[in-house]
Amino acid sequence: MNQDFEQQAETFHQILHQEYYLAEAGLKEHLNIIPIYERYSHLFEEQLVRRLLSSARTRQETYLTEWTTLEYLENLVKGHTEYISNEMRNATVEWDGQRVPYHSLRPMMSNEPDTARRHQLEALERGVTASANPERVDRLSSLHSRARDLGFESYVTLCDRLRGLQLDMLSEQMQTLLDTTRQVFFRRLEEYLHHMQVPMEEAAPCDILALFRGKRFDALFLEDSMIPVLAKTLCGMGIDLARQDNLEVDTEARALKTSRAFCAPIRIPEEVKLVTKPNGGPDDYSSLMHEAGHAQHFAHVDPSLPFSFKRLGDNSVTEGYAFLFQYLLLNPRWLRKTMGITDSGEYVELARFRKLWLLRRYASKLLYERQLHTELDGAEKEYASLLSAALGVSVSAENYLADTDDAFYCAQYLRAWIFEVQLRRFLEEQFGPQWFETREAGDHLISLWQRGQEFRVEELATDMGYDGLTAEYLIEELAQTEAV
Ligand SMILES: [Zn+2]
Repeated sequence: MNQDFEQQAETFHQILHQEYYLAEAGLKEHLNIIPIYERYSHLFEEQLVRRLLSSARTRQETYLTEWTTLEYLENLVKGHTEYISNEMRNATVEWDGQRVPYHSLRPMMSNEPDTARRHQLEALERGVTASANPERVDRLSSLHSRARDLGFESYVTLCDRLRGLQLDMLSEQMQTLLDTTRQVFFRRLEEYLHHMQVPMEEAAPCDILALFRGKRFDALFLEDSMIPVLAKTLCGMGIDLARQDNLEVDTEARALKTSRAFCAPIRIPEEVKLVTKPNGGPDDYSSLMHEAGHAQHFAHVDPSLPFSFKRLGDNSVTEGYAFLFQYLLLNPRWLRKTMGITDSGEYVELARFRKLWLLRRYASKLLYERQLHTELDGAEKEYASLLSAALGVSVSAENYLADTDDAFYCAQYLRAWIFEVQLRRFLEEQFGPQWFETREAGDHLISLWQRGQEFRVEELATDMGYDGLTAEYLIEELAQTEAV
């Protein structure tokens, strides 16, 4: 592995993320990534991938090998990927006598007060999703067979080994999570559905979307306060957002800007963007805080680290820091001190239930995706039965491919969720329950952020005195979802 290769990988990453940033921030009309991949195609050549797979020894080489191999696979199926994404972007359905874009259906479901109409919207969405399933099958079959061509037993083994996911252990922990939180989850679910007047046996994911929309809490989360709240939070940790020259907070309203906040780490740490189109409401706050966690992480990385440690490595690390910021919104103490919300009970209760729902969803997705990526036949049924059983609502089989990310990103989220609780407990023990208001906690986080993603979450957990990455604290917290 030579230095030149790593530098080119970094340049490719910068140009690619600059392009994503411009398109998603609404500064450019079309996303145009194919020419970038073509210009750098020598980074993803099969011969190179094979050579790296057989020779990688050091941590730096391992991270670069993981990245090159996964990009090589993505590059092979990019025609399918683009086709599916364009089909979905252009698809429309008829609703109330008008053509409505497929991508607008979710927000419409979450804002639709009438249960029957919500279910009709979901059925329309399902039809469009299913129309691209044959293409999704082809795409996935290619990924699976290429993984075997590279000498791996399956796509599962490839992802597990290259990403260091420890899927066996993680699946076991997630099965425990599902078992342990089952009772409390179903009790709460029944209460919420009853309140919404949706019979349990008819409940569908769109009802849960509407529940989590939480319109009645909008007044607590005002648009104008979003950035001040973030700045105040950072100030408590001794970080002056206004003076972070390498971090640009872009709040400008542009017609083409995506509505969800995102972080674009273009040059790490010299040029990091935190992009948002503030609308207010609990969801908007939640995604801003999540992306702000990523932004602080990347903006603090030691510039002298190699690219493989600055950006590659274990993505659960950056997701963990993002969750740490995001879940401040579940902390009544933070809500009171930073946002002046004294009576947060009902909101926190719903937000915690939402987290429990998400964890059960991802835990069952992990178990499902292991099967999907081992054997495509029968996956459709497996998806509907595993997810419906875990979530207590009827999950449609048609989503069995659209509802997955490549290369077990679900496992990286799960590892991040486990890590976040461990990190938060550590911060509370070291710096007190108000850790988010102490400069010492901020300094400690900065010292972690400086290392980029050089160390995996299990190593960081061990450094904090834990027995590696262990889900028991997360499970314990989720099992207490009722007590606020
Ligand atoms: Zn994230």
